[in-house]
Amino acid sequence: MQTIKRLIDGNEKFKREYFPYFEKELKDSVNLGQRPEVLFIGCSDSRVTPDLMLNNQPGDMFILRNVGNFVPPYKMDEDFHGTAAAIEFAVSVLNVKNIIVCGHSHCGACKALYDDIGNDPTMIHVKVWLKLGEKAKEKTLLNNKFTNDEEKYRATERNSIRNQLDNLLTYPEVKKRVEKNELLIHGWYYDIETGNIDFYDKNEDNFKPLKEFLK
Ligand SMILES: [Zn+2]
Repeated sequence: MQTIKRLIDGNEKFKREYFPYFEKELKDSVNLGQRPEVLFIGCSDSRVTPDLMLNNQPGDMFILRNVGNFVPPYKMDEDFHGTAAAIEFAVSVLNVKNIIVCGHSHCGACKALYDDIGNDPTMIHVKVWLKLGEKAKEKTLLNNKFTNDEEKYRATERNSIRNQLDNLLTYPEVKKRVEKNELLIHGWYYDIETGNIDFYDKNEDNFKPLKEFLK
């Protein structure tokens, strides 16, 4: 119960020390609704901390997290698509102006692309979900210059971001708004060892320090 006690104490500290700073905005937002301008798609990894690492306030980002920060291609059916539903809601209802797909270093999902999960029924959904990283793996393996597995994993993490951005554009409403310049899509790479973020420069097909984005 030590863990839950820490969370309870954490909430008490939050209410006492931090909540008062946001209280008015949050009460106003109950009447006005939320108005985030960013949909952030990140990995569920516990070391990725979207609001903390970007110094956000409540209301700043609509956040979608899943294993590997994957974006399933648009599929017109009536199955339960949690990731697609979040994208649709953020774009069509919240009218976000930016979508950030943020990968990260030491991503277990990208590493698992190289493991054999087998047919363990307790991992069946993970196995299916990881198919969304297959293209990144294939692209990575075209390069045989890696001197060790860690280099290969880092490249896979970045290639996956490129691929998930392509998948985002399979959503008709995303594509339409991007073409009309009403929506920007971004690929970011978060280094959990340094806190540094690089952005994907599509023109150069390269990742650069985020602070150079506006230059
Ligand atoms: Zn991850």
